Amino acid sequence: MKKLLFFTACCLAMALGSFAQIPALERVEPMFWWVGMHNPNLQLIVHGSNIATRKVELNYPGVKLVAVHKVENPNYLFLDLRIFSGTTPGTFPIKFIKAGEKPLTYSYTLKARDHSQGRAQGVTNKDLIYLIMPDRFANGDKANDSFSNLREQGIHRDSMFSRHGGDLQGIMDHLDYLKDLGVTAIWLTPEIENDEPHASYHGYAVTDYYKVDPRYGTNDLYKKFVEKCHSMGLKVVKDLVHNHAGTEGYTILDMPMKSWVHQWPKYTKSNFKYEAEMDIHGSAMDRKLMLDGWFDHRMADMNENNPYVQNFLTQNHIWWIEYAGVDGLRLDTYPYNDPAYMAKWAVDVKNEFPRLSIFGEVLTPQPVTQAYFTQGNTVNRGFDTHLPGVTDGAIKDAIYEALNGNDGWADGVNRLYGLVAQDFLYQDATRNVVFLDNHDMSRMLSMVNEDINKYKSAMAMLMTLRGVPQMYYGDEILMKNYSNPDGLVREDFPGGWYGDKKNKFTADGRDDKENDAFNYVKTLANYRKNTAALQTGKMTQYIPEKGIYVYFRYDDKKTVMVVYNSTDKEQTTATSRYYERIKGAKNAKNIITGESQDLSKLTIGAKSTLVLELANSK
Ligand code: CA
Repeated sequence: MKKLLFFTACCLAMALGSFAQIPALERVEPMFWWVGMHNPNLQLIVHGSNIATRKVELNYPGVKLVAVHKVENPNYLFLDLRIFSGTTPGTFPIKFIKAGEKPLTYSYTLKARDHSQGRAQGVTNKDLIYLIMPDRFANGDKANDSFSNLREQGIHRDSMFSRHGGDLQGIMDHLDYLKDLGVTAIWLTPEIENDEPHASYHGYAVTDYYKVDPRYGTNDLYKKFVEKCHSMGLKVVKDLVHNHAGTEGYTILDMPMKSWVHQWPKYTKSNFKYEAEMDIHGSAMDRKLMLDGWFDHRMADMNENNPYVQNFLTQNHIWWIEYAGVDGLRLDTYPYNDPAYMAKWAVDVKNEFPRLSIFGEVLTPQPVTQAYFTQGNTVNRGFDTHLPGVTDGAIKDAIYEALNGNDGWADGVNRLYGLVAQDFLYQDATRNVVFLDNHDMSRMLSMVNEDINKYKSAMAMLMTLRGVPQMYYGDEILMKNYSNPDGLVREDFPGGWYGDKKNKFTADGRDDKENDAFNYVKTLANYRKNTAALQTGKMTQYIPEKGIYVYFRYDDKKTVMVVYNSTDKEQTTATSRYYERIKGAKNAKNIITGESQDLSKLTIGAKSTLVLELANSK
């Protein structure tokens, strides 16, 4: 999530109790829960006008009200519940009692957990993730385009900062397209409510942690979306933002206590320097600014050292996973969070959902800086982050250097070779998410100067290098642009809206170049989907020679050879040097063309890549 530069907002009034116009009992969250959770403890946040002046009563077999916490703001109570194992699902009243008044009652439900096989199944190196901004993919329901009770009104497709009307229904209407392309997992930028007055479409300024933004649909529709994906063999990645909250949410407008967010005398932003967190020579203030500084005026920095905040966030995330059955989590702005809390969070979540997968947004060209945040590394921290993988920004940069740079001892394609050689830094580099672009970055086609050979080589590397590949919506139809401002890389998918002149979801709507790109991606993605060697297989790479970079992915059934010519001219190369992996095979199948290829000599076009399946593969 990149900071938003295009509007200014006044600093927040961080006073407590300034949120006068609320009902006596405004909300209880999580609004329901489950029996049979690994962690028997549940902390309810109760918001209502002077709710702290009331006594709390609760009677249900197997549930104990352990503690009632009053905090600085009398509009809050925090209730500690313990739900004993063997408790029967059911509904019971929680009463808020004041002498001389009728008690306020919240009807609390404990549901049975859903242990179905297809839920929370994990997104791994067997998958191909497709990233979608829900506002910009397809508008499947015009009735939810705008709501009079939300701060930002209407849809304005001619403005990159406004809402465009895309929604969950639009995505559900195009799952066949994604399935056909060879995608196996869908990552949506946050679909929860962002009721901000401007540029609310991006989703990273949450205003209601428990509600899908009405412009995308309902909670129920989100659950149906996940179920429909599962029924089609597709998985879902949910995007979580621990670090900051939108300034129009109830816990920010009327904070439970001053320490709910990081407070500064005046607006103070993060220095955005990951190194400040790990630097043994670093300044304490630089570290504090990195972690506690705000990401943006409109994004309050959550105080993750506050145990109430910890419970609030962790329970919300567990609630969504159990409610909707999502398979993987992407953690926004990972390095900006409190490291100890995030480590505890990961353990708490995995205790409830052992198969669930997690990756953190970490964006740096430095593999060491990136590896610092991953599971198994305790250097300079003293404890494990329990973060299985990160968005592999280092390999992305190295791929672009291999495509665009000039060959040199440590430059050009040697950069990529050298980067892959540093995979020892990770407990398991195959848990990293490999990507070429996303909603914050220039699109891949623009990054390779619209050179179709480079585009195809980039896609080939994405699908064949180790890790979990992730592509960005529209790259398969040659959408392009530089991320300045970022709205330029968040354009609507042509054909997603009623009345669009072109529908690029169909072959007829795409021109020849777009179909060539689409078919290339589709062929590779579907090949990868059916080739375990490219998913979980080992990798052997060779030192580049004359600008040619060769690596193999293999298991006991198949060997796939990838040959990239980084130079500007066609080259022919002998293959005897690769005997360790070729193992006497004479021929190979070109995965893109389907043609048989004599393996003794290979001819590779400028900036092009061959993906070959060796004939001795069983
Ligand atoms: Ca809509």
